[in-house]
Amino acid sequence: MSAPVRVCRWCDGVITHPETEGVIVAHELGNSGPGWDVWAHREHAEQVDVIGDDVLRIMLRIWEHQGR
Ligand SMILES: [Zn+2]
Repeated sequence: MSAPVRVCRWCDGVITHPETEGVIVAHELGNSGPGWDVWAHREHAEQVDVIGDDVLRIMLRIWEHQGR
């Protein structure tokens, strides 16, 4: 099994070595799944504004409406 591709939330760059250069900054809940971890490069982690659950829920609602 291949590892899932981890992308930095801040720079959208692929984190090729998560164990040394990556850090989990948040965990997002999926609509129909277990959700996923939000990754960032270690040097970018401080730049990422971790989205709170409440904000995320509001954003998901907005995106849902936009998709219709
Ligand atoms: Zn990055």
